[in-house]
Amino acid sequence: MSRRKLIAGNWKMNKTAAEGVALVTAIKEGLPAGADALPEILVCPTFTTLGAVVEAAKGSPIEVGAQNVHWAANGAFTGEISADMLKTTGVTHVIIGHSERRQYFGETDATVNQRTRAAVAAGLVPVVCVGETLAEREAGKTMDVIGAQIKADFAEMTAADMATVVIAYEPVWAIGTGKVATDEQAQEVHAFIRKVLAEMFGAAVADATRILYGGSMKPANAAGLLAQPDIDGGLIGGAALKAPDFLALIEAAR
Ligand code: PEP
Repeated sequence: MSRRKLIAGNWKMNKTAAEGVALVTAIKEGLPAGADALPEILVCPTFTTLGAVVEAAKGSPIEVGAQNVHWAANGAFTGEISADMLKTTGVTHVIIGHSERRQYFGETDATVNQRTRAAVAAGLVPVVCVGETLAEREAGKTMDVIGAQIKADFAEMTAADMATVVIAYEPVWAIGTGKVATDEQAQEVHAFIRKVLAEMFGAAVADATRILYGGSMKPANAAGLLAQPDIDGGLIGGAALKAPDFLALIEAAR
């Protein structure tokens, strides 16, 4: 089974609409000719920037995603945005359960599961983040933590529901810290995630599901990570904010 690599940028709470348009335009203009050989490319700006970035990305292979979604269709949920509302901006993907949302905004595996099912039902591709903290890794609990997250985040979903799902393994201790997981550490967890998926949904889903690595990925360390058999791309924070770095990561995935 060959899985197309995906290079995804998480812009977090950065870039105004004008700055986002400038960044996506620079990425678009810097892409090598011959789109066939490219990995899938995704950028995830803030809510207020989505429409402008979707417009600026038109005519290029760059897809646009949001950074969160609510599970209800509408209602009394101040500050939230539904999947159908996101779709009106032209986005195709949504990041769910990023560790910053888990850490600062009370996101739990139960709410990740609700958001993921709502995204799938609306036809958005969810990029679901899992990862262990440094304390959990040092206590030897990495696989227990990751296994429990995968089981809970995709609870009550079917193999058909999983068809478009993308998973991002992001060790919390590696996000924005400059500390990257070694190629071997990342590969070990990615292979484990695939094993859990096989137990839950069967071998076909496990083989087909793309699992991205995230956590201080940059041009200098990407080649080794992307060469691992179970690493299907990257979810990138800091290095996604500079067109030359993001373009170098796209190049590393080719
Ligand atoms: C992220 O926020 O998903 C991320 C991986 O950030 P960084 O690349 O900056 O570590």
